[in-house]
Formats: sequence, structure tokens, C-alpha cells
Amino acid sequence: MEYFRRRISKEHFKKRLKAQLSVKEIFPPEIWTEFLGDFETNQGVLHNVFAFSKTEAIEIFSSPCLDDEGNIKNYSLGIKVVPPRDTNSSENIIQLKNILENSSLAIFLSDPNGLIVEVNRAACRLFGYSIKELKQLSREDIMQKNSDLEMAVQQRNKAGELRTELVGIKKNGETFPCEVHSVIYTNNDGEKRTSTTIVDISDRKKQELMAENSKQAFQSLFDYNPDVVYSFDLKGNFVDLNEAALNLVEGPREKVREVNFLPLIAPEDRDRVMMHSSMAVSDEVQRYKTNFISLKGTKKVLDVTNFPIYVNKKITGVYGIAKDITKQVEIEQKLREEHNMFRAIIDYIPDHIFVVNEKHETILTNHSFYKNYYGVENEQESLGLTALEFFEKEEATKVLEDNTQVMNNGIPVINREDIDQNFNGKKNYTLLTKVPFKFGDNKKGLVGISRNITEIKEKEKALEELNAALKKHADELALSNKELEQFAYIASHDLQEPLRMVTSFLTQLKKKYDHKLDDKAQQYIYFAHDGATRMRQIILDLLEYSRVGRVAHKVTAVNLEHLVSEVLSLQKKSIEEKNAKIEIGVLPELEVEEPVLRQLFSNLIGNALKYYSKERQPEIKISSLEKEKHWEFKISDNGIGIEEEFKEQIFIIFQRLHQRDEYEGTGIGLAICKKIVDNFGGEIWVDSRLGEGSSFYFTIPKQF
Ligand code: ADP
Repeated sequence: MEYFRRRISKEHFKKRLKAQLSVKEIFPPEIWTEFLGDFETNQGVLHNVFAFSKTEAIEIFSSPCLDDEGNIKNYSLGIKVVPPRDTNSSENIIQLKNILENSSLAIFLSDPNGLIVEVNRAACRLFGYSIKELKQLSREDIMQKNSDLEMAVQQRNKAGELRTELVGIKKNGETFPCEVHSVIYTNNDGEKRTSTTIVDISDRKKQELMAENSKQAFQSLFDYNPDVVYSFDLKGNFVDLNEAALNLVEGPREKVREVNFLPLIAPEDRDRVMMHSSMAVSDEVQRYKTNFISLKGTKKVLDVTNFPIYVNKKITGVYGIAKDITKQVEIEQKLREEHNMFRAIIDYIPDHIFVVNEKHETILTNHSFYKNYYGVENEQESLGLTALEFFEKEEATKVLEDNTQVMNNGIPVINREDIDQNFNGKKNYTLLTKVPFKFGDNKKGLVGISRNITEIKEKEKALEELNAALKKHADELALSNKELEQFAYIASHDLQEPLRMVTSFLTQLKKKYDHKLDDKAQQYIYFAHDGATRMRQIILDLLEYSRVGRVAHKVTAVNLEHLVSEVLSLQKKSIEEKNAKIEIGVLPELEVEEPVLRQLFSNLIGNALKYYSKERQPEIKISSLEKEKHWEFKISDNGIGIEEEFKEQIFIIFQRLHQRDEYEGTGIGLAICKKIVDNFGGEIWVDSRLGEGSSFYFTIPKQF
């Protein structure tokens, strides 16, 4: 309230006014309370007499002064010390009129029926009428007639005073909201009058509307924001939460309001979040990420922004917006893991991997590449650089040209054998793959993978050399084998003639000189003849052995069941003698040289009969089994069997397990069988138990 200086006759006021004190301090306390009551009730529009002694009273006029926008700027006060109840002096009336005229408030004095008795200039300005015009109007001419007005008049008449908002009508018909304060008083003539002040509150209404609109906009933003929006007080207790916030917290609105935000923060983040919150209440906008646990225990990750709430320039709490970034964090985490996995894979792979862009700048290298090709310690040192920075010019140019071609053609190069050089010029054999790709806004790039195959190449070379040497050796061996076979054939063939001579002369000797020879000589001749006969047999066997594979026979379709039957009929005598039981399984028809196969079956069946056990009836089974790539034949017997250690030996030429007087033979039969099967490209083996029997197997490939 303004200080004031007016003519005041009494010392009391003089002194105080000089001291430039406030209004309160210039009044005696008993008057101040009364004055303040009236002043506040009448909003500063006041004309009253306050007695403060038996002989003295203060008459006070007060009216508000408005600024250009119609807002109350200050109050003008007229104070006069008067004798008690001396309020109707002509001076007072002049004073009153003066105030009425000069007040910036529109003031109407009227009778209770609404007829205007007195108005001031401010009223004329407000309604656009002259004083004269106004005095001819009634209440309804300047105030919109409606139930509000009727009710206001009734209330005012009943209570003697009313303050309300109504709608005013200007002369030009324009309406405007106004605040009306009307008081009924009795004038000196005892007539009832009303004093009404009217203030145009259009601007205030507009501002109120704007304030209301923005409040509503804010509320909508708050309520319907898909993000979590909340506020909490300085103690951290929630004050307001929007729907999204309630969903996040997972508690009913009534309950959540009492909740403190801190326990909802994951324990590991609490100190940090506390720090952020206290900075927010020190007027710093805070943004941070935190782990959050709802009232029901659901875990989330939030991106929080907190900022202070100001009320009357004082921070009263914190507004917060939180985004649920759980999914994003999970995706980021997954991406990070995948990236790490990708890095681990490409770094531990021995292949050299690089990626370049169209400008040949390196944008990715793996450990093998940056270390072995560029000769740097980490990927970072390789990025943004080209082959020109690491390789010799000639090599770099070759690489760049090749890369350009692949990028431009858009056709990948897969596993191309190449020779390249690394940073120190070392040459390597490589298997090179280059795959063009597009990235970003259609930029070209290339992924290169090179595998060092120098070692493999060297081994390949060594293997080739070894193969060549082996082939040479095999050729030499084949030649000497052939020569050996030739020799065996010639020897056995040519030996027959002199042997025949020896035998026939021995026969002649026995025939002509039989009577002249004594028993000893007879015995010697017998031994010599027997030796020659055996030698002849050995030579014949040898001849037969050397013939295997040397003599070509016609290939025909041979029914093996027939062939085996024929072989058995040739052995008929032996079979009958031994009462042998023969079983022939299903045998195929094969395109083969018949005599060769006949000899094979003949030798094996012959042995099965020869090496029979005297303890039981001989049983011989001949069967076959078709396999994917060959036929497997089996000739089994229940004869004497073979000791384990001799299973390999019996297939070697002249190897026998028995004396001649036990079992006849030269030990060449199985050697011939092996040679025949070898020539087919098959295998031969025996499965046997001594004293129980033997099974001889051999295979013949389907294509040989
Ligand atoms: P030979 O029968 O003329 O002695 P082989 O080469 O046919 O010559 O046989 C070599 C040796 O294998 C025979 O001396 C014999 O000890 C053994 N043998 C061959 N077939 C059988 C068989 N079915 N049962 C037992 N032993 C066998």
C-alpha cells in the first residue's frame, strides 16, 4: 500500500506521515483493524467514518486507481479528522464527489429499482454513453438481462451488498464481462440508494481463459502422454502420475500417491538416482537411465528426464518423464553380444577378412588380416587406409584394380587361386573370395576373404613328387614281375622236357635191368622216379600259377550255380567216398572268364573236401551275398580248421601246414586263388577255428 500525504490536522498523523510509514502504522491500532476489514470487504471502494475518541473520528475515502489494462495499480485515500458523525458537511460532499469523479472505476449511484441517479466519467468511458444519457437508462439497459442479473439483484437486496460477475452492454451493443460490486446504503434523507462499481474484466477473463486452456492442454498432455509422466515432492513422494506411470508402477492411483519413488529404483542404481534427483531440485534438468522395479516386482529399464517444479519462484518438487527402454536395451544388449560374437568369430578364424568401400578405404579387418597383411597391431590402425599404404605399389595397384572390377561387375569371385604379397613382400598362395555388396545409400563395397594355402600347396607338390616316384617304382616292379613270371613260365616249361627224359630213362633202366639190380638199387630207382614225379607236379603247378592272368579267356555270362554243380560232379568220387553233404545257396550269374572262376571254386571246394574231419560227416556250404559294390562268396566246411597264426600264410605260394604223407599237395592252390581274386580287384580271406572248420571268403567287384 502506498504511503500518503494529506492535510491532517492532528499531531498523531503528522508525525507518522513525516516518518513515511505504511498505512498500518499511521492508524491507531483499533481503527486499523476496522478500516482493513471494510477496505478488504469493499475491495478498496470506501467512504467511512471511524471514531477513535469521543471527540474525534477519521473520515476516509478510498478508491482503486487502474492502469491502462484495467488492473488495479494502487489506491487513493482521502483521510480527514472530523468530529464524530460529522459526515454530511458540505466539504465532505464535495470531497466525495471529487473522488467519484476522479475514480477510474465506473461508479453508479442508483435507487433500488435500478434507476441511475449519479454516474462518474469512468462509467461513461466504459459504456460509451454521456452522463446525461446514462442517467436516463436503467440497470437492464447497461447489464445483460438474464437469470444471473435477477439473482444478483435479489441477493444484493437481501444482503445489502453483492459482488459478482455479470455481462455489461455498451452503447454500441458490444457486451463485455464485468465485475460488479453493489452496496445498499441510506442517504442523509433516509432514502435507500445503491452504490455500484463496475470493472471491465474482459482482459482478466481472456487471461483466465488462456490460463485455463493451457492448464487443460497441460493436463491432457500429462494424462494422455504415452510416456510415463509423474511428479513428486521434495521428499520423493509421488504427487501425480499419468495412466502410463500407473501402469509402470503397477499399483492403484490411491496407493501410488503415498509411495516414495526411491524403493522403485533397483538397489544398485539408487545412489546415482538420488544424486540426479537432488540435482533436479537444485534447478538442473537431469537425464539418466535406471533399472526400475514395480510394486509387483516387474523389472524395466527407464530413460528418465527430471526437472524442477516452481511454485511462486520456489522449487516444490520434480516433474519427470520416463521412457520404457527395456526392449531397446535388450536389443542393444543383443546387438552388442552379436557384435562380440561376430568379432570373436572373425578374429579367431585363420582366414584373412577385410571389407573396403568404393574408395578402397578399409572399413573392417579381422585379426589375421591386419596382423599378417597390413602388419599393424589393431584394427583401428588399418581403418580408413587403402592397400597403397601397406603393400608395395605394384601389388597394391593389382589389388585395387581387382577390387574395382569385382565392385563394378557385381559378380563375386569365389575361391580363386591367387598369389599375393603382404606388407613385407612375403608371397603366399591363397584361395581368394571377394563378394561385392551395397551399403548405406547405395554405396558399393567389397568383402574379401583370403585363405593361406601355401602349406597345402607345398604338401600337394610334395605329394605329386611322391606319387611320381611311386609310379616309377610300381612300373619298375610291374616290369620285374612280368620278367619273373616270364622266367617262371619259361623255366617250368623248359624244365619239363629234361625231367621227362629223366623219368623215361629211369623207367627204361627199371624195365631192362630189373633182374640185374639188387634191392638197394631197386629202391634208389624208386626214390629217383618218385622225386622226378613230384618235381613234375611242382613244375606243372608253377606253370599253372604263372599262367593265371597271362592267358586271356572269353568273357561270357556264367551261371555260377551251374558252374559249381559241374565242379562238384568232377569231385563226385571224393564226395561219395567221404559221404559229404553239399549245400549250394543261391548264386548269381556273372559276366566273367569261366575257366578262371571254375579254377577258383574248384580249388576251394577241393580243399574243403581234402581237409575234412574224420570225426564227423563232412558238410560243405557254398553261398553268395550281394553287397553294394561287389559279390561276396563263401565256401565253408566243418573240417580240421586252421590255426589263427597261419591264416595269412596259407595264401603264399608253396606254403603248407601238413606233411605230404598226411595230405597230398604242393601248397599252390590257395596262392592261385589269391592271384585270381587279386586280378579281379577283389579280396580273399579265411575265417577258421582249429578242429571246427573253415570258411573261405572272396569278393568279386561288380565292375572290374
Ligand atoms: P595244398 O592243399 O596243396 O597244400 P593249398 O594252397 O591249397 O595247398 O593249401 C595250403 C594249406 O592251407 C594247406 O596245406 C592246408 O594246410 C591249408 N588249408 C587249405 N584249405 C583248407 C581247409 N579247407 N581246411 C583246413 N586247412 C586248409
